[in-house]
Order: sequence, then C-alpha cells, then structure tokens
Amino acid sequence: MPQTALPRFATAADAAMRLRPDQPVYCFRPAVLAADIAAFRSAFRGKMAYAVKTNGEPMVLSALARAGVDCFDVASPAEFAAVRAAAPHAELLYMHPVKALSDIRLALEGYGIRTLALDHEDEVAKILRVVRAMDIDPGEVTLYVRLATKGEAAYELSKKFGAAPGHAVELVQRIAGIGFQVGLAFHVGSQVEDPDAYDQALAIAAAVRRRAGVAIAGLDIGGGFPARYGREPGRKTAPAPDLAALLEEIQGEVAEFGFSDVPLIAEPGRVIVARALSVIVRVLLKKGQRVYINDGVWGSLSDSWTGRIPLPVQLLPDPARRRRSGNPAKIEPFRVCGATCDSVDILSRPFWLPESVDTGDWIEIGHIGAYSLGLRTHFNGFYPDTFVEVDEAFDIDAADGAMEPAQAAAR
Ligand SMILES: *Cc1c(COP(=O)(O)O)cnc(C)c1O
Repeated sequence: MPQTALPRFATAADAAMRLRPDQPVYCFRPAVLAADIAAFRSAFRGKMAYAVKTNGEPMVLSALARAGVDCFDVASPAEFAAVRAAAPHAELLYMHPVKALSDIRLALEGYGIRTLALDHEDEVAKILRVVRAMDIDPGEVTLYVRLATKGEAAYELSKKFGAAPGHAVELVQRIAGIGFQVGLAFHVGSQVEDPDAYDQALAIAAAVRRRAGVAIAGLDIGGGFPARYGREPGRKTAPAPDLAALLEEIQGEVAEFGFSDVPLIAEPGRVIVARALSVIVRVLLKKGQRVYINDGVWGSLSDSWTGRIPLPVQLLPDPARRRRSGNPAKIEPFRVCGATCDSVDILSRPFWLPESVDTGDWIEIGHIGAYSLGLRTHFNGFYPDTFVEVDEAFDIDAADGAMEPAQAAAR
C-alpha cells in the first residue's frame, strides 16, 4: 500500500460516479473506524487487543494506531511485522495456541512478546525451551491457557482449539509450577449473537480457576462480538444485539463468576472493522434474476460463504443508461455470480436489489471490513486492490434489502 493519500470522496456514490470503476473499489472510512473503536472502549472496562487477522491491511493498522489502539492480538510473524510497522510501541499478544518453535523464538527475541496462548503441554515445552535459551525469567511471561467452549456462533472455533476443563487445570498447575504467570483465555467464535456463549465460557473459566487453585494473572474473553449486517425482506430476524448492552451483560457475568479482581482482556476484530469498509462492485451482466459482478467468494466476499451473514447492499445505478426495464421501487432477490470461471463462485444468499438493476450499474456492499481483504486470492487472475477514502458511513438503514417491500415502494 503506497503511503500517499487516497482519493477522497464524501460518499461511495460520488466515488462510483466520478471513477466509473470496472474493478472493485474499497471505500475505507477512518472516521467510522475511530467511532467504532471509541464505542468498544467506552463499553469495555478491560484492555482491548485488536485481532489482526480480521483485517491486517497496513492502512487499517495505521488508522487503528492513530485512533489510540496500543495492543494487538497477533498470530504469525507477518502479523508481528505489520503491527510493528504501523504501531512501533504497541503491545503484542501472541494468542495462537499452536506455534512453530522458530516463530516463538522470533516473538520473544525479535519482538519482545511476553504474552502467549496455548492449549497443550507440548506447547509449554516449546516456549520453555526458548525462555531457557534466552535466559528469560518465566515470571516475566504470561501464558494463557485457551479453554475449549461450546456456543452458538456464525463460526465455531472450539472444534479446533482449546483444552477441556480437566486438561486445562493440569496445564494451569504445570505452568504456575514452572514460574510463569498464568492467564485463562477463550474465544467463543465469530459473530456471536447470544450472550449465553460467553456465560458458558466464563463458567468453565471459573471452574478451572477454582480447581487449579493458583493465582490467575488475567482473563481474556476473546472476540466474537457481533457486527451489524443486512437483513432479508420478509424474513424474521432478531435485531443484532446492541454492543454496549452485550458488553454490559458479559462484564456483569465476569463479576458474578468472581473475576472482578483479575485484569480483563478482549480481542475484538469484526465489531471494530466491519463498518469501516465497503466495496463498490460493478454489474458485468444481468441475466434474468442473476447478476454477474466483478468480485466474489475468491475476492472480497468469502466471509459470506456460510450463508449466515447477509451482506447489506445499495444499488448505484449508472446514470448513463437511458433505458431500463423493471420497477426501481420494487426490491427483488438476485442471485449473485462472482468474477471467476467456476461454479463455487456464487454467493449463498441473494442480494435484494431494485428490479431495475442492469448491466453497468454499481452496487455498494457495506460492512465488509472484517474477513474480506485478508482472504482475497489471485485465483483466475482477479485481485481487487483499489482503495479510496470515504467520509460518510454506509447507511445500513437505507440499504436495498433493509426495508419491507411496501416501505421501499413508498420511498
Ligand atoms: C479471530 C479471533 C478473534 C477475533 O474474532 P472476531 O469474531 O473478529 O471478533 C479474537 N481472538 C482470537 C483468538 C481469534 O482467533
């Protein structure tokens, strides 16, 4: 990413009309990012560590640093380097439970990292090897035992990581016995809309702490806090829980489970960056109830593959198109085919768009800041990589699918 200033527009519609882009264009909104960081911070009383895997673009990391974020959850040498470049003095938490020995060495030696996560004794042995070789006092290092949890998330992660309670108790005792500081960590998944997931994880953490009987230096409640996405007309969907209310509830549970005396960490990703980016895509072809666009699941839109995240969209009609058929006030579902030549590249949910959508129009897809840029591939020769800066937030309440058909017709 060049360090020159990005072209700047008031709205994404302005960018589309001025640039008339044939390639996808990302609209970055630093002001929205700063607002969402502030919202999280005002609702959370512990330390916030931004989860870099959600969006590790240098531009985004720099904006986070400018907004005062000074702690980052990192998982790989490339993420250590990206954060160091954007925020030279920030604290790094290396929360990947399974790490290469050489990466552990780099973390401790090259980056001064002193906080790591694990869920197995062999990982303790790896870390201890490096600590001994470097002659570090284990008391300067905090090892977080990642707990296995159950819960309802758009993405479940405990299938892959986490120690079961009995195993976690053994790990905590072993780590404390060596002289490390011990923390407890969990990560209940992503886009978690049910506070019960945190409640259950906290119950496990409290039980492990009680049974282990050693001092706990920190509790890390992971990420998973939900961002706002679209909705589909006619579908009853519960409104996404309010972040402040959810955090209030979680922190109430933290206190109830007896963790008030323990430093608290959260690792939000999605809820911090989702709103900060949208992408303007072009309709390359409209064919009946389908639209073929210049982006897709191998590009910016893979996060929607589970079908559980409806992306909010807004049609930006090409004013140069004189003739149109279809009613612009009638919102219809269109199947969305991506840019590549394979049949996997079809979105699992339709876009709800005016019936009048046509070849050459643009569509702004909102709230794609999380798990989009980092997951795009060069497959088939397509790689969206154009950025502009936009001042105004994507208006999710005015998105094409956001209204009931009757409301849309009346606007
Ligand atoms: C991915 C991840 C996060 C961020 O999750 P979000 O759902 O984006 O908030 C936080 N912690 C860990 C350990 C993760 O793997």
